[in-house]
Amino acid sequence: MKKAPFLTLEKAKEITAQIPTPFHIYDEAGIRRNARTVREAFAWNPGFKEYFAVKATPNPYIMKILQEEGCGCDCATYTELLLAEAIGVTGHDIMFSSNVTPALDMAKALELNAYINLDDATYVDFLERIAGTVPETICLRYNPGGSFSLGNTIMDMPRDAKYGMTEDQMAGAINRLMKLGTKHFGIHAFLASNAVSNEYYPELAGNLFRLAIRLHNATGAHISFINLSGGVGVDYRPEQPRCDIRLIGEGVRRKYESILTPCGMDDIAIFTEMGRFMLAPYGHLVATALHQKHIYREYVGLDACAANLMRPAMYGAYHHITVLGKEDAILDHVYDVIGGLCENNDKFAIERSLPEIEIGDLLVIHDTGAHGFSMGYNYNGKLRSAEVLLHSDGSFQLIRRAETPADYFATLDITGFQFKT
Ligand SMILES: *Cc1c(COP(=O)(O)O)cnc(C)c1O
Repeated sequence: MKKAPFLTLEKAKEITAQIPTPFHIYDEAGIRRNARTVREAFAWNPGFKEYFAVKATPNPYIMKILQEEGCGCDCATYTELLLAEAIGVTGHDIMFSSNVTPALDMAKALELNAYINLDDATYVDFLERIAGTVPETICLRYNPGGSFSLGNTIMDMPRDAKYGMTEDQMAGAINRLMKLGTKHFGIHAFLASNAVSNEYYPELAGNLFRLAIRLHNATGAHISFINLSGGVGVDYRPEQPRCDIRLIGEGVRRKYESILTPCGMDDIAIFTEMGRFMLAPYGHLVATALHQKHIYREYVGLDACAANLMRPAMYGAYHHITVLGKEDAILDHVYDVIGGLCENNDKFAIERSLPEIEIGDLLVIHDTGAHGFSMGYNYNGKLRSAEVLLHSDGSFQLIRRAETPADYFATLDITGFQFKT
């Protein structure tokens, strides 16, 4: 399938007249359309809620749009909790799925009455020590060990993952928590990342539904929700299939009706914590071609770099690139598209077929709406970019300004050095 940007050259020029590149831009119409489809796909489950994984796109304007579409927030740290609080998301609209949790973070989650998702059985003591009591509802994170497969494909190796606890440890934690006063339990597991498959959630759900029955039988505990976490993938490559969230929701419903309903456990709510699926396709990194060089390969250098989008450098991840205004041009040039870090892995694309690029051309790097800006860093003194929201009516809004050198130096204000900015 051809990947079309949600931004035209004309609109991009209108924006860059006010906001210089590079910047991340988000498509409000796309975000809302997708969030509604997610809600409809799980509408068969009255308690369904998507808790948007804040780490994917920690911008309050984006989080607010998702809140308006019925989503809560999945937070893992103190600052992510503060972001949720700032947009008025509190209580059971927050899922606190942390690991290696500092006391300060746990205390903040308890203060906000968030659902607490415990990464380990030892956290029962930790929780009691901090709060002096335990919440009425608690979620427990499961690690089944071994490998996790869909059909013949091994998706991931839970036994090598640091997260979650064993089934025995879950049963032990539930027994202790019930003695301390917890009445309702959730079960959570994250077993594959960026799973571009309509089978991932149904398979995971089946495992967790059977686990819920075993834990209920072993402890008598009331299981009130199953949290399928994140992991639903997106088609970064044009030739990849796309997840169909309606089929995914339908697949989970079939597992629910065949496993939970016959046991009378059909009051269980389904929760999700998707980040990538909610946002990745609805963000672009927009950059300008600054330089070209012709050595053993052809290079196009951008004003964006891996500090603005780390995934290609970190995982060798593919991100599609469109040269605005040349959407239909022949791809008769082969380029490495690079950033300016002093690191040879700072390449957005390697030997990519693209139309002829001229200096000054505007490039769109696709699918940067999740785990894009948020993984940014300041290596080489590179500054974080602006974020822009393209509203449904075509107007646009700066939702985070670009960093300035003064921001970069702000944490050195204790040193007595003077920086000319
Ligand atoms: C990262 C993460 C998510 C979101 O993952 P996606 O791949 O973006 O869907 C959800 N839950 C937890 C606990 C996570 O760590």
